[in-house]
Amino acid sequence: MSEAASEKSAARDTPETRPVSVGGLERFSLVDWPGCIVATVFCQGCGWRCRYCHNPDLMPFLAADCGARDAGEAPDSGRWTWAAVRAWLRDRRGLLDGVVFSGGEPTLQAGLVAAVGQVREMGFRVGLHTGGPAPAALRAVLPLVDWVGFDFKAPFADYSRVTGRPGGEAARASLTLVLRSGVDHEVRTTWHPALLSECELRAMADTLVAAGARAWVLQRFRAEGCVDAALRSEPAGEPPVEHLARAGLVVTVR
Ligand code: SF4
Repeated sequence: MSEAASEKSAARDTPETRPVSVGGLERFSLVDWPGCIVATVFCQGCGWRCRYCHNPDLMPFLAADCGARDAGEAPDSGRWTWAAVRAWLRDRRGLLDGVVFSGGEPTLQAGLVAAVGQVREMGFRVGLHTGGPAPAALRAVLPLVDWVGFDFKAPFADYSRVTGRPGGEAARASLTLVLRSGVDHEVRTTWHPALLSECELRAMADTLVAAGARAWVLQRFRAEGCVDAALRSEPAGEPPVEHLARAGLVVTVR
């Protein structure tokens, strides 16, 4: 059986071996994992609907991605398959430091652990971007990743105002997992004054200190790709970092 046919067969066996649904591939990035040269796999599908999302095309889950299409070795109809990404990565060994799984939301992919394992077998280090909506899935993949970029979106009790869906308690559990895992990580928050007040940012800083975080990155809102006209029309300005300093917490703006 050819490798492609073998993978196709495996993809139909169990959800755990189903390939990740690929919404896009950034072949070269210096920003998705600070300090590393990476390729970034954008997983298709997310359960949240953040108003500032600049990848809205990655929100829907596509039923057609569940296995059968993944035997292709080249981008199909302008979209990458997981098999095509793997084939492309085989030729990049020694040229990239690692591979980042981003989204969408990677931890909602049933095949994430298998995909991360395949990437590690090729010799790449692995980074993960997550908002933490699925703590059990995050717990399963954490031992296999080298770095996590964790999106801390809002005070946990008020998550849905930013994410458009419930998720604060899941995110709280996931943040705790990341901070206690010993895995290198970055906690970051995208800030827009229409979504997070300075008072809420202060509460988030207190939450991070209590949870044991050592650093926090505030990301400037980017209008590019955002479909929320109200957010785009309101100048975001600079995050108000002056009152966020806490002992042991380094706050930076990016
Ligand atoms: S969690 Fe990320 S991908 Fe999902 S809607 Fe929010 S910003 Fe977009």
